[in-house]
Amino acid sequence: MRMFLGGQWQDRSSRIDVTNPYDGAVIDTVPKATAADVDAALSTLVEGAKVMRNMPAYDRSAILRRAAGLMLAREQDLGRTISAEEGKILSEGLFEASRARETIDVSADEARRITSEVVPLDAAPGGKGKFGFTLRVPCGIVAAITPFNFPLNLVAHKVGPAIAAGNAVVIKPASDTPLSALKLVEILLEAGLPPEAIACVTGGGGEIGNALCTDRRVRKISFTGSYEIGDAICRMAGVKRVTMELGSNSPVIVLDDADLEKAANLVAVSGFSNAGQVCISAQRILVTTGVYGDFLDALKPRVAALKTGDQLAEGTKMGPMIRERDALRVESWVNEAVGAGAKLVTGGQRRGTIYEPTILANVSSAMRISCDELFGPAVAVTCVDGIDEAIRLANSTNYGLSASIFTQDIDRALKFAREVDSGNLHINWGTQWRADLMPYGGLKDSGLGKEGPHYAIREMTEEKMVVIHG
Ligand code: NAP
Repeated sequence: MRMFLGGQWQDRSSRIDVTNPYDGAVIDTVPKATAADVDAALSTLVEGAKVMRNMPAYDRSAILRRAAGLMLAREQDLGRTISAEEGKILSEGLFEASRARETIDVSADEARRITSEVVPLDAAPGGKGKFGFTLRVPCGIVAAITPFNFPLNLVAHKVGPAIAAGNAVVIKPASDTPLSALKLVEILLEAGLPPEAIACVTGGGGEIGNALCTDRRVRKISFTGSYEIGDAICRMAGVKRVTMELGSNSPVIVLDDADLEKAANLVAVSGFSNAGQVCISAQRILVTTGVYGDFLDALKPRVAALKTGDQLAEGTKMGPMIRERDALRVESWVNEAVGAGAKLVTGGQRRGTIYEPTILANVSSAMRISCDELFGPAVAVTCVDGIDEAIRLANSTNYGLSASIFTQDIDRALKFAREVDSGNLHINWGTQWRADLMPYGGLKDSGLGKEGPHYAIREMTEEKMVVIHG
């Protein structure tokens, strides 16, 4: 495919291969953009931002609604593209495509609900006779930098609210998975988005990411990806608005009174969908002494039954990881934990980019598989003596994106919600659940700011204060 900038589809002689992570087959190629391309893209987007700023909310909403309709019509193609370039099984690719449509549809709703506020100035000393109100205006140009693992929906979570709020937007998709983003751009243009209001620049994060993040014409950076890159972006951004959706190593607490079958089912889903490459994948499973053995007995067959292989083949329950070096990382962390005394319950084998779904038991919180972000298909199970120890361990990392608890006791569930430092807290479900309209974002090193179209629009607009001196 070609990239889109300067109001048109453009090609370059230097190109990047987009490969299927299962067998390395080249699916397509995309241009390798340079910093000069970013400069050209931003020059046009400056004009596009003026067009968007003057476009009524009614029209912005209508464009997004038409785009959602086109996404529905192309759901099969979008789902297959996601699976082919990313490696998730086809049902997960199709589910992501339907969620991305929902994200764009909700953005269309929210475009019509951007309101301002009357401020009671007569309540201030000297405020008699004054009338004040806020005006919410677009930021201008939003840079949307996205990771590989949800190559369509996480782009939709940035582009939908950016357009709804009246901004121009430049997308920098992950180099491994640019095709889904480019297909979304095609759809938005077909739906009537002015061509000067959008760009999608494909190429390496080091060169074009830096060019985008340091450019003063970009007022807002919305980034989803690793802590390390997020931290680097915050340092180079200067005075810009930033939203950071970063990593995690989400804990699941299973107490003695839990429904063990349900907990085991949901850990098998939360820990292994998309081969564990979800920011809210269940990673650390903290189980109380009384049910520790029974829980492992319930979890093992469910995880062992996850058939691995070609993500596009029927019957496959878990596909490859995005790159072989990521599967090697998982292998080395699992081996390191086993060397330090953890017990391999199932899995532990690698074939190229496929790492078999793995359970480790007797994991201590100092092991890397527990304290860092694994981002792969393994869960680390640790025995705890009760809720206090479980909460202490849940909070014992730098991350705080999603956490869950299984218990029948409302008091202990509320204690968990109050005391665990996490942006998302689930009671009697796994960590991996999200409605696209809800506020979503992490605490601590898991990030800054919220996504979900209503909340993202707040972060992609600026507030002015108007005072009428009567
Ligand atoms: P990544 O390596 O941090 O890359 C994310 C994006 O940043 C890619 O588009 C990458 O481009 C770009 N990039 C790289 N260097 C850059 C630079 N110097 N300046 C600007 N952009 C730069 O992350 P990933 O491996 O794709 O995704 C996995 C990570 O994302 C995990 O940590 C996961 O937890 C996190 N994540 C978080 C959420 C959330 O909602 N909190 C959701 C999904 C994923 P290239 O691809 O060209 O390098």
